[in-house]
Amino acid sequence: MNENKGLLETIKCNECDSLMRKSMIDYKEEYDSEIISINNVEGYLCHKCGNQIPTEESIKYINDLIHLEKVKIKAEKLKKQEYILVNNLSNIRQGIGLSQKDLANFLDSAEQRLGVIERNTNTPTIIVEHLIASFLGVKTDDLYEMVFISPELYNKLLNIELIDHGNGNYKFKHVPTIAKVREEIWEKREELKNSNAQKIRLRNMIKTEKIDRDEGLAQIEALDSKIEEIKKIKDDKKNGLEKRLKKLEGKHSMIIKQERVIDKDTWEKVITSFSEYF
Ligand SMILES: [Zn+2]
Repeated sequence: MNENKGLLETIKCNECDSLMRKSMIDYKEEYDSEIISINNVEGYLCHKCGNQIPTEESIKYINDLIHLEKVKIKAEKLKKQEYILVNNLSNIRQGIGLSQKDLANFLDSAEQRLGVIERNTNTPTIIVEHLIASFLGVKTDDLYEMVFISPELYNKLLNIELIDHGNGNYKFKHVPTIAKVREEIWEKREELKNSNAQKIRLRNMIKTEKIDRDEGLAQIEALDSKIEEIKKIKDDKKNGLEKRLKKLEGKHSMIIKQERVIDKDTWEKVITSFSEYF
């Protein structure tokens, strides 16, 4: 590499052998079928074939911007996906021949708490996760792996239980009662969101005098009692929808537990059984 490249006014075109002159160029790079364009950077332009090469100094600047753009593109795509966490802790622990009690002793943590983590009813803190990984001599990524799936598959998996007869005999079963309650909860959440948005709109309308003040306040009051009603249906500690969902989930071996965690073994069965989604 010519170290003085950026200082030279002309260089030879690596495409057509003509002279390239120093000029402001638009650098373009393809990433994940999108074009990232970094405009107006110093480079060399071949007037014969259109070839563009950034100067050495520009490259560092370009790379930083490109990296940022790639992160943004990736984040946009991931935002449209759902995530789940695949838990491989019990497999690794058993593979090494440690009992839950052994590991809990190492960790200075209650055996029960570890059980909760292994059954996916809760996730460990980052510190506990790192401690477990250190004790088992693995990487944290080996314990938990985050995977991104389509919303279609995620919604399907939410309402599925695993019937495992052992010896590799298993089937997944859709649980309609759970699917129905979940749908009702979604509807209530939407209604709450809309009612709250409507309230904000009304307040603004009162402020900007687009609605008679008393009329506006009356409508807000009506919305408030509607919101209370929805919340009662959804959140009542005894008969609310959320409570009903919890109870139902307790009765079935749902494959995705709270906090979106799934067993590694179950996950592998999902990949086999729902291959059309992968
Ligand atoms: Zn050229």
